[in-house]
Amino acid sequence: MIASDLATATEALRDLLEGARAIVPFTGAGISTECGIPDFRSPGGLWTKNRPIDFGDFLASGEMRDEAWRRRFAMEESFAQARPGRGHRALASLYRAGKVPGLITQNIDNLHQASGIDAADIVELHGNTTYALCLECGERYELSWVRERFESNGHHAPDCACGGFVKTATVSFGQAMPADAMQRAEGLSRNCDVFLAIGSSLVVWPAAGFPLMAKRSGASLVIINREPTEFDDLADLVIHDDIGAVLAPFINQ
Ligand code: NAD
Repeated sequence: MIASDLATATEALRDLLEGARAIVPFTGAGISTECGIPDFRSPGGLWTKNRPIDFGDFLASGEMRDEAWRRRFAMEESFAQARPGRGHRALASLYRAGKVPGLITQNIDNLHQASGIDAADIVELHGNTTYALCLECGERYELSWVRERFESNGHHAPDCACGGFVKTATVSFGQAMPADAMQRAEGLSRNCDVFLAIGSSLVVWPAAGFPLMAKRSGASLVIINREPTEFDDLADLVIHDDIGAVLAPFINQ
């Protein structure tokens, strides 16, 4: 069913959520656009400005590593200032009510953690851009450490003490998906009765497979996105509207 207007959407969503025991939200960049972080694929989104740097290019070229860090610091103002939006807060309310066993996100912005959901209950499929890791030894670095060195050495990416490359703790295109996160996301998708796909264009694989997995395992699939997605035909409820407006009625402070 495609909800015809916001009031119908809210009512249908409320019915589904009230009857559910285990709700699994699956979020994409669209939940964070109202927080000032652009998504990839909306008009004017990051995709239209800078195509992402492939992992192979990051490994192969010092210039690409410098460029990756230049872009990251250019985004820092947006990331550092961002606070959880209405969508994040509504999901945190459902979590506090004991209805959300875990949340799967493609986002790298840390805003679900900031909304009060325990980090242990958040599955980050594409990692987290608010800190960095050495690709060799796994040492964690804060962005302030990286930035200080980047700015004092002519805008070159610093390396780890072990000699390994330091990269934001994100999963780039071409980089292996984290096995543990994939396994946990599969467990959540197969064991929920409502799966909420929120603000994802559902074109980035393998992440886009989870809504399908949930649907095939018997969950009701809800898609909330202002634009149509390829999975709309499969969904039990489709809401083509603004995420913040749709989820605001579910915020319970
Ligand atoms: P996407 O950019 O491909 O899709 C975002 C979708 O959200 C679009 O279909 C758009 O129509 C919709 N949308 C945007 N704002 C909305 C709003 N206010 N209300 C309703 N719908 C809205 O994002 P994706 O599917 O998450 O894939 C992009 C990849 O890039 C992700 O895997 C993620 O790792 C990364 N990314 C993350 C962030 C972040 O962490 N905030 C931002 C950009 C990209």
